[in-house]
Amino acid sequence: MEIKKCTSCGAFITTEATVCDSCRNKMNYDMTLLKNYFDETPSFDSISAISAATGVSPTSIQKYMQDNNFDTGINSSSFSSIQY
Ligand SMILES: [Zn+2]
Repeated sequence: MEIKKCTSCGAFITTEATVCDSCRNKMNYDMTLLKNYFDETPSFDSISAISAATGVSPTSIQKYMQDNNFDTGINSSSFSSIQY
């Protein structure tokens, strides 16, 4: 059995996933918060504004953006120009 490290918290995992269960749950929760925010807020100024509104850390938001996990209709490339 292959043992890997969770890419988020560094805990050892033995699943095919790249993150542990606890981080996946956290990510799913963050995603829900962010998707709700994007649904209600078609435009925004910065990752820090998103973070303030959702409580999701800027680091996590940027990672989710890079991973392209959003189906928001927002072009992820637009996030590369957003400053903290
Ligand atoms: Zn983890």
